[in-house]
Amino acid sequence: MSKDYYKILGIEKSASQDEIKKAFKKMAMQHHPDRPGGDEAKFKEVNEAYQVLGDAEKRGRYDQFGSDFEQQGGFGGAGGWEDFMRAARGQGGFGDGNFSFNFGGVDLGDIFGDLFGGGSRRTGRKARGRDIQVDIELDFKEASFGVEKEVSLRKQSTCDVCGGNGGEPGSKMDKCSACGGRGQVTQIQRTIFGNMQSAATCPDCLGRGEKPSKKCKHCGGDGILSKNAGIKIKIPAGINEGEAVRLSGYGEAVPHGGQSGDLYVRVHVRPYKDWERNGFDVYSDLEISFPQAVLGDKVEVETLHGGIKVAIPEGVEHGQLIRLRSKGVTHLGRTTHGDHYARVRIRVPKKINRDTRKKLEDLKKDL
Ligand SMILES: [Zn+2]
Ligand SMILES: [Zn+2]
Repeated sequence: MSKDYYKILGIEKSASQDEIKKAFKKMAMQHHPDRPGGDEAKFKEVNEAYQVLGDAEKRGRYDQFGSDFEQQGGFGGAGGWEDFMRAARGQGGFGDGNFSFNFGGVDLGDIFGDLFGGGSRRTGRKARGRDIQVDIELDFKEASFGVEKEVSLRKQSTCDVCGGNGGEPGSKMDKCSACGGRGQVTQIQRTIFGNMQSAATCPDCLGRGEKPSKKCKHCGGDGILSKNAGIKIKIPAGINEGEAVRLSGYGEAVPHGGQSGDLYVRVHVRPYKDWERNGFDVYSDLEISFPQAVLGDKVEVETLHGGIKVAIPEGVEHGQLIRLRSKGVTHLGRTTHGDHYARVRIRVPKKINRDTRKKLEDLKKDL
């Protein structure tokens, strides 16, 4: 069923982009979940409508095909390779973990930034740990075929004595007196629309509503401590220079059992000989003599998959590429391979003896 985004934003089909933005701001303010009488479901709906109508290209498609089409073709989901590729391209993921004005694709921070005085941070949610990035170096083959590596880093980790809750094992939990066990306190924020009431996480119990009667001696009650961690990572075959693998939840832990950040392992590939990688194909130089070029020959070319006998065709040209099918790098997420290309380089001798010179002089007349 197709949704009427124009109706959701309360505008005409002929509305200008400016009018759409204005209508969105108004509706979003009205339904914002942090406002008294706010409605998260309506807010999301308004946001969804704006994601489409606020973008001229998507709006055009929507006008033609309706919202169902948009949902299928528009925004990719998260998880698996998608996440990996996103991380690889350095998009998303590295943001501030606490930032939560993000339903779907539009970064509402842009729009709400001015209303909330810049720090449009939604309160009343548990904190999320920082993301961490580490770099590792792989050799050409490891990147091509995948490898398991261990990285060691020092980071805030969950305390394994109390399991992150900060209480001495066996101690009971007391109701937090600062928030009366609600986990939230009320804050008044001044905005250009007047005072707005919002709920904030209780700074005393950090939203849990309770506190352990006895603090864990091991971590001092925070539930986390800084320690060295060795983390094993499976690097997928076919990964390339600059790409990263994301390990969800392996970033920094936050006090009292909040959500840990993510770990990004960025890959650097050591060069090997004169090999060049282009996507999943490998290029190497194949040096041959002038007679080999004229007469053709059989030579061995080193590839990722071992030495391969290659037929040099008669009359091969300098710079010509000889393709060795499926002897390249493993396609990411698959079991097939790219190709290996041997680039012919014809060696021209700089020093020749008298005998060779004589033969070449004769050839010169023939060729
Ligand atoms: Zn502890
Ligand atoms: Zn509290």
